[in-house]
Amino acid sequence: MNREEMLSNPKVTARVIQENNFTFRKSFGQNFLIDSHVIDKIIAAAEIDKDTNVLEIGPGIGTLTQYLAENAGSVTAVEIDDKLIPILEKTLADYDNVRIIHGDIMKQDIAALFEGQRFKIVANLPYYITTPIIMSLLESHVPADSITVMIQKEVADRMKASPGSKDYGALSLAVQYYAEPYLAANVPPNCFMPRPNVGSAVIRLTRLEKPSVEVKDESLMFKLIRAAFNQRRKTLANAVKNFEGLSYSREEVEKAITDIGLDTRVRGEALSLKEFALLSDALTFAPA
Ligand code: SAM
Repeated sequence: MNREEMLSNPKVTARVIQENNFTFRKSFGQNFLIDSHVIDKIIAAAEIDKDTNVLEIGPGIGTLTQYLAENAGSVTAVEIDDKLIPILEKTLADYDNVRIIHGDIMKQDIAALFEGQRFKIVANLPYYITTPIIMSLLESHVPADSITVMIQKEVADRMKASPGSKDYGALSLAVQYYAEPYLAANVPPNCFMPRPNVGSAVIRLTRLEKPSVEVKDESLMFKLIRAAFNQRRKTLANAVKNFEGLSYSREEVEKAITDIGLDTRVRGEALSLKEFALLSDALTFAPA
């Protein structure tokens, strides 16, 4: 298609969809961006320049991909829907720095796609799988410098929440262990086709060189975090005792809580990541 006709123009999006007899698949979380201002904000937040290699998750019909191709060194776009591949081949035909891969992002060997070269991840993510995608990217230590994504506003708020706020939970702690979150923009439903039922936000997660806290047993710390927020109205000691294979008694947990300088009646939602790390270390050598 003509390079002057950008897909972020809603009329062009509608025409491409119609000409290709494309039907949106809700099961793939297909809400395509139709607002160039929002795309500009994504590109700015991701700090894309001609030296940047980009991995785009779910290019759709290629709207964000066109802007990435204009601004980045290279773009690798992984799309699961086979019906979109021939469309992408047409809409991105003018760009020789774009590689389209048909596949499921959850099954890709992402590091292998970049062969040791630095890259950033940018996406308007499918909302049905936002948290699993982000957690798997962070936990598997995918070597991306940053992850800039459009997600549900409510999920973005949880990712950047601090202790004491209603949004604070296991997701906040997991994200902030690996990355520094920055909320770049709030985006209303009318910027998408079709419109989602929820508000959206662009968030950038800048990967930390090393996790934000030191802890002896990372998996124990995350188990304690899950226990604390699984029953967030309970005291921490009550929530942790006998949670999913943890076999600490309430007394053992209360002693560890006192040892790190907190009140035994404290609830998990009051603890910072650093305090969860200290608690985990205090319990690491206690009999479990
Ligand atoms: N980037 C496009 C845009 O902004 O207009 C489309 C965004 S749409 C919210 C999400 C895209 O991700 C869809 O094209 C969908 O088919 C694709 N998708 C869904 N699940 C996927 C997966 N597991 N792996 C790769 N792509 C996926």
